[in-house]
Order: sequence, then structure tokens, then C-alpha cells
Amino acid sequence: QWIYMNGNYVTKEDAKVSVFDHGFLYGDGIFEGIRIYGGNIFKCKEHLDRLYDSARSIMLNIPLSYEDMQAALVETIRRNEMRDGYIRLIVSRGPGNLGLDPERCPEAWVIIIVEQLAIYSEEAYRNGLVSVSVSQRRNIPDALNPKIKSLNYLNNILVKIQANLAGVGEAIMLNAQGYVAEGSSDNIFIVKRGIVYTPPCYIGALEGITRATIIELCDKLGYTLKEEPFTMHDVYVADEVFFTGTAAEVIAVREVDGRVIGSGAAGPITSRLLEAYRQIVEVEGVS
Ligand code: PMP
Repeated sequence: QWIYMNGNYVTKEDAKVSVFDHGFLYGDGIFEGIRIYGGNIFKCKEHLDRLYDSARSIMLNIPLSYEDMQAALVETIRRNEMRDGYIRLIVSRGPGNLGLDPERCPEAWVIIIVEQLAIYSEEAYRNGLVSVSVSQRRNIPDALNPKIKSLNYLNNILVKIQANLAGVGEAIMLNAQGYVAEGSSDNIFIVKRGIVYTPPCYIGALEGITRATIIELCDKLGYTLKEEPFTMHDVYVADEVFFTGTAAEVIAVREVDGRVIGSGAAGPITSRLLEAYRQIVEVEGVS
């Protein structure tokens, strides 16, 4: 396994960062999770756009041009001979001193890791996940703006801990007002009477790239899609519930907080969207 670190390709054993790295000390940095399908990078431009926007927002200077970053991704995939897998792209503020001042960090660090992905079983895609809502609230749009895909994932990790304690794969996070926001690392959709709903991102959700793809697919397939705030009540009485994410793709939810959703398996619209999603990942992508 070859890992890209600031222009060098190093082995897993040699891929080490400094204890003075501000990504490590303070979570000061940003990242992207990207999929490789059939050797191609899926939604490369969208991921790089989000990365460079996150960087601009936190005044992090990425030391690579957009084109060089794309070339680095392609080369890392090539060296790892990866056909289907996952790319983790990290840009840390880089090594500095123990103070939190980013001006003491002269050089941002760019790291690209390509790995096999452990995803849900096909059984889970057919029958759906069990999920729960958790007490953790999604950060409101301040420095921890969900739109910035920063290395500060503590909130999401606390959600994941609550999911683990409940014995479920993904949990549902509300915002401070009690509206449904998203999962620990997935966006959420519900279907009611044939209409597909997802929370608007201002509620407190990452502008997920899979979410955007599903919104487009709803349009193509003729489903009405509404970006509207909703509550856990709406989730409980939905005909279908599903999560979307780069790793999870489109995964149905069959039960939430003990309430059985719809038929208790992946519903027809969820299944149709998953099928359509899997069709486009095969044909689109940068190589
Ligand atoms: N929300 C959060 C908090 C996430 O970390 C992710 C994963 N990147 C998502 C949603 C899904 O986004 P995407 O479809 O871009 O992977």
C-alpha cells in the first residue's frame, strides 16, 4: 500500500505525522472520502470543489493546484492498482508548535490513502438497517459549520458511540431545534406518499455529494423531491427511510427507535434509487 505524503509515496509503516501536527493536536484540517469504481474516481470535481471550499473557509492554503491534486489522486490509485475502493484525502494545517496559532504552521500536509472498503452486506441493502435517534445535537453553523468537512469529527464520533451502544450501524442526529439533520457520516432521506424528502443543509447537514446525486436521480426518475425540515415523528411515520453517503451509497432503514418503517425492508423508491445510483457509478468518473 502506497500512501501519498506531500509529494512522496511511502509505505504504510513509514506514513507518519509529527506529534506537533495541528491536525493531530487540534483537528485543524479538512478531508474528503471519495470512491473509486472500476478504476475511476467518482464525482472527483465535486469532492475537490468541497475540499477547496472548506480550505478557503478556514484559511488553509492547500499547497497543490486543483490539477496537481487530481493528478496526485490518479497516481496514488495507479500505484496501488486499485479498481474499486476508497480514497481518504486529508489536508492538515501541518506541523507547528504547541500553541494553536496556524501562523506557526508554515506548511500544510497533504495525505492520500487508498484502501479497500468494508461496506454493508447486500443483505443490509435489501432488508435495511436498524437505526436510533441520539441526544447529540448537530453543530449549528458556526466554526463547526457542517458545510466544512473539517477534521473536527468529535460530535460525529459521539453519535457513533451512541449508535454502537444501541447496537446499530448508523444513528440519526437532530439539530438544536429538534429537526432531523443527518447521520454520523451519512445524509438522511424519507419517503412519504411517493414524495422524497431530505432536510435542507441549513438545518445542519453536510452538503453530501451522494445526497446531491440522489436529488438529481429523483429528478431523472420522476420522483418529487422536497428539501424540507422534518422531525422524528415524520421519520417514524415515513413509508421509507434511507441514508446516503460515499461509503454507504444508498442504504435503507427498516426500523428507527423501535418503530418499523413501511414494510420493514428496503422500499420500492429506495431500491430504485440504489439501482440507478449503482448504474451511474459504473459509467461516470475520472481516470
Ligand atoms: N454527513 C457527514 C457528517 C459525513 O461525514 C458524510 C460523509 N462524507 C456525509 C454526510 C455524506 O456525504 P457524501 O455523500 O459526500 O459522502
